Amino acid sequence: DKGLAVFTSGGDSQGMNAAVRACVRMAIYLGCKAYFIREGYQGMVDGGEYIQEANWASVSSIIHRGGTIIGSARCKDFRERAGRLKAANNLIQRGITNLVVIGGDGSLTGANLFRQEWSSLLEELLKDGTITEEQRKKFDVLHIVGLVGSIDNDFCGTDMTIGTDSALHRIIEAIDAISSTAYSHQRTFIMEVMGRHCGYLALVGGLASEADFIFIPEMPPKTDWPDRLCVQLAQERSAGQRLNIVIVAEGAMDREGNPITAEHVKKVIDDRLKHDARITVLGHVQRGGNPSAFDRILACRMGAEATLALMEATEESVPVVISLDGNQAVRVPLMECVERTQAVAKAMAERRWADAVKLRGRS
Ligand code: ADP
Repeated sequence: DKGLAVFTSGGDSQGMNAAVRACVRMAIYLGCKAYFIREGYQGMVDGGEYIQEANWASVSSIIHRGGTIIGSARCKDFRERAGRLKAANNLIQRGITNLVVIGGDGSLTGANLFRQEWSSLLEELLKDGTITEEQRKKFDVLHIVGLVGSIDNDFCGTDMTIGTDSALHRIIEAIDAISSTAYSHQRTFIMEVMGRHCGYLALVGGLASEADFIFIPEMPPKTDWPDRLCVQLAQERSAGQRLNIVIVAEGAMDREGNPITAEHVKKVIDDRLKHDARITVLGHVQRGGNPSAFDRILACRMGAEATLALMEATEESVPVVISLDGNQAVRVPLMECVERTQAVAKAMAERRWADAVKLRGRS
């Protein structure tokens, strides 16, 4: 009679639906009641129709759809204890003590805090007569498991986050499309891709599409980068190359911490090389479209493992995230990963780039 609820929170990514489907179906297979919570933490706080029982059919025909069919939101209320108190009551009234949160490091931090506070929230609900002593005893532990949905691959502790591979597909499709017109007109295209603290999309997208120059936040160039850029592009043109592709990650900067933007790069190319340079900002296209086969399978494996981890959890077990380690789905302590991820962001903000790369580890 264990109730399990799944919700998506923070920024959406392709593959979230596949993860929701796997969690729900594994839960039903194991004899649990499965629920969706719509609109992330907001739905948990508001309760009512936002918390809905799911069945086998309610997750049919969603594996191929991008985004998240159960909605995602940012929620101010959940940052306050009063909001979390409401959320706790809504879960108890439905008999839900197992949560799968699919989101980024913010959503996982919130989930961890919720679990830590759970007993005291229940005490408060008991004191004001909202729940009974019997309910408090029955639902005394909240188990949570996290799955990382993020197109940026910016989470420590997993080799790939759900959505990264699909976003890379969007990027290389766009570069391929632009390359054919760039070739015809001998143009230089400057593509801005997502990634504030993490240049993974820019780097791997660039490698997969023969970009000529890539700017990523982790490897800021010296302030003389315009000279190096122009020498490189000019050399390639004189060797007969008819087009150039430059990729700029959103968070790119130079070693002094000055942002390097697509406009900035264009101006350098216009002024010094007089090439016909154009900018394309991919923006939310990267989050859009259908998930790749890799993301669908990754999300299925992670979702199934998340439900299994919840069913096997004991009072002593620490919250985990399901992550990809090589080709294995493994359980790693949630807070360790969140803390490392936040330490990377801090190191980046303080311009300690080498530390950030070391902290991030393999992925
Ligand atoms: P992401 O999960 O993609 O990193 P956010 O950082 O925006 O996205 O977090 C999503 C939601 O998670 C927030 O709107 C908030 O409801 C909840 N959340 C984030 N951080 C905390 C926190 N420290 N305490 C409580 N809730 C939080």
